[in-house]
Amino acid sequence: MLKPTDIDQLRGDFPILTREVYGKRLVYLDNAATTQKPQCVIDKIVAMYTTMNANVHRGVHFLSQEATEEHEASRKVVQQFVNAATPNEIVFTRGATESINLVASSFCNTFCSEGDEILISAMEHHSNIVPWQMQAERLGLQLRVVPINEQGELILEELEKLVTPRTRLIAITHISNVLGTVNPIEEIVAMAHRHDIPVLIDAAQSVQHTRVDVQALDCDFLVFSSHKIYGPTGVGVLYGKEKWLNALPPYQGGGEMIASVSFEKTTYNSLPYKFEAGTPDYVGTAALATALNYVTSLGLDNIGRYEQELLQYATDKLLSIPGLRIFGNARQKSNVISFLVEGVHPYDMGTLLDRMGIAVRTGHHCAEPLMRVLGIDGTVRASFAFYNTPEEVDLLVEGITRIVKMFRA
Ligand code: PMP
Repeated sequence: MLKPTDIDQLRGDFPILTREVYGKRLVYLDNAATTQKPQCVIDKIVAMYTTMNANVHRGVHFLSQEATEEHEASRKVVQQFVNAATPNEIVFTRGATESINLVASSFCNTFCSEGDEILISAMEHHSNIVPWQMQAERLGLQLRVVPINEQGELILEELEKLVTPRTRLIAITHISNVLGTVNPIEEIVAMAHRHDIPVLIDAAQSVQHTRVDVQALDCDFLVFSSHKIYGPTGVGVLYGKEKWLNALPPYQGGGEMIASVSFEKTTYNSLPYKFEAGTPDYVGTAALATALNYVTSLGLDNIGRYEQELLQYATDKLLSIPGLRIFGNARQKSNVISFLVEGVHPYDMGTLLDRMGIAVRTGHHCAEPLMRVLGIDGTVRASFAFYNTPEEVDLLVEGITRIVKMFRA
């Protein structure tokens, strides 16, 4: 179990947290957008460029082989982290967004035709809406949207009712980046499989907070981004069951993804390289592996327990502010609090908090359709990581209280 004293020590792993902005101590509460990096991840990037930089997979020379071994070892770290059956099921991409685009393009091209349906939910990030919509426009598919209830939970009975013989895939987020809702993805996968429908899980907001085991879940695809789990930007992961990845055509063409090329015909490489055209970010994958090992060494159960306590503390404190309303009150909720305070525009709230050194996010959080469902233009969002403390929550609450007084004066 992580205790506040452990957190003080762990904060020392993150150099940026000692920074000041506008002469105030930085209070970083925008972790759902991106997380800060521990020194070990920063050191790994420096070490890779300082000692091991060479293009992977192509060289007979020493450095290239060393870089290749590092890159492939990183794939195994990711495999173990999500408990995939084999490293062939781990495809490196640029991020969760690219992973979803890959599946949307390759899956719809192969398995969908006019009139077929893709099922998503009302709480999806644009990254899990637009790629499907683009394929829908191209191929004449229908997007079906599972509604949410007042608390911001998926209405599961509606989900099953929306399944038809034309449903080809269900793409659903594990945790909402706006509401914090933790969706019952085990149940959803089980239900989908009863109808022989594959499921893609958007785990961009979940792998950093809770253990995800793709074999236990039995999901068909799962995606996440390195930068949201203390790793570097520009790297992402697509997990896909081997049977699906084998059945899908390549997404992009180029080097790495081929077995042989002639002007008449190209044959493709085996998994996972078939989906990795061009030079991969082998520095990024090595640093992602370092980040995953760091998280594993702390223990995701420990992280999750501490973060749940912090979430409860923050929720209680924020609700004590008159006129403050939280959007998303799911029974299973993760480390995101979206709120509005009567009489204060979210943009003003965000800007004034920023002047106090408190970084929150304001706006639609890349979920415009959800904002429409909620009947609002945007929210203020505070999102927590394990390095945040109750004292930082107090600073947030004090800051909001001061701003509200200013506006009400
Ligand atoms: N899905 C969810 C739920 C997200 O929160 C995000 C990032 N905000 C994404 C997908 C996209 O991640 P990225 O921009 O790193 O590709």
